[in-house]
Amino acid sequence: MAEMSPRQRIRFLCHQCQREFPVRDPRWKCDCGGVLDLDFKPLIDLKKLEGRPPTLWRYREVLPVEDDGNIVSFDEGFTPLQKISLTGGEAFFKVDCLFPSGSFKDRGSSILVSKLKEWGIREVVEDSSGNAGSSLAGYCARAGIGCHIYVPRSTSPAKCTQIEAYGAVLHRVPGSREAAARAALEAAGKTYYASHVWNPFFSQGTKTFAYEVCEQLDWRAPDWLAAAVGNGSLLLGAFTGFTELLAAGIIKTMPRLLAFQAEACAPLAEAFMENSTHVPLPKKRPTAAEGIAVAAPKRGRQILDAVRQSGGRFMTIAEAEIKESLRMMWRQGYYIEPTSAVAVAGVEKFLRQEGAAGLVVSTLTGHGLKASG
Ligand SMILES: *Cc1c(COP(=O)(O)O)cnc(C)c1O
Ligand SMILES: [Zn+2]
Repeated sequence: MAEMSPRQRIRFLCHQCQREFPVRDPRWKCDCGGVLDLDFKPLIDLKKLEGRPPTLWRYREVLPVEDDGNIVSFDEGFTPLQKISLTGGEAFFKVDCLFPSGSFKDRGSSILVSKLKEWGIREVVEDSSGNAGSSLAGYCARAGIGCHIYVPRSTSPAKCTQIEAYGAVLHRVPGSREAAARAALEAAGKTYYASHVWNPFFSQGTKTFAYEVCEQLDWRAPDWLAAAVGNGSLLLGAFTGFTELLAAGIIKTMPRLLAFQAEACAPLAEAFMENSTHVPLPKKRPTAAEGIAVAAPKRGRQILDAVRQSGGRFMTIAEAEIKESLRMMWRQGYYIEPTSAVAVAGVEKFLRQEGAAGLVVSTLTGHGLKASG
């Protein structure tokens, strides 16, 4: 397999105070408490892709793991991009529920756990509504890294079973998704925090979504990229990928971001409508979309900036709309989990409102065997 493109200078960069840190040493936040990004300008040469296997590691040059020997992979990725007919028109969906652990989170976990291996980390903690935790647990199992996952008590039984099946230690925390995050943060005082929200190596993996979509569209960008958003790990990763492809001159336009939240838990949609950079105080009602029930997204500011910068928008989806789209997809043979139906309902609503909206790409994020609502 090829190397990462010519020894580039990669650094952690604080989103809040602009301080930089070398990636030689493991860390997951800035000393000021801010979230970190990676300062990394990868170069990709499309000619190198010829003959490489159809996995997300075919974009090796843009994935910031130094040594091929540290790659932790199940040959995942390059999921089908399928055209699906909805009432308002047609859209393309990446079938990301086909990943080894059953959700797109494996994109991030493959790169993050490879980096954990490179750092020589032996044990990690993470919090999750279920899918990020089961994904990380699966990749840690492959790498032989110890893993503690904190989930809210309400997490779907199948996701809990999966986490324990991989050999991770499951901690069920009474209360909300936020309580699980607090418990993991506390444990992170002693053990490395492999957070899919805080850790920038995770979104270096989710950016492969953009590379795959563009390659599958013959190196063209869609007009709209539509996704359900909780912590924004997919949306921000994809945005990074499209930004890199544009900078490399491989695509000529950026897609506009279409971000969906459940009406019952829509802090970012509210901030967007009010034209604010401030994410309102947590308030949420129960929703079938457990994977995006995030009341206080840590990267909220970044998500709002990306959606605004792209000329995109937010939409909220009611519980009844989620259920209806879920059933409609099941009847078409797509056995997805309820959270994934948010994107389908959102795209449908958008197409009904917009008519001919150009090329819309979205994703089926999680498998129905994990949660069937
Ligand atoms: C994690 C997840 C999402 C949302 O991802 P964020 O990174 O939190 O925005 C959507 N659908 C499913 C099934 C998920 O597991
Ligand atoms: Zn800082």
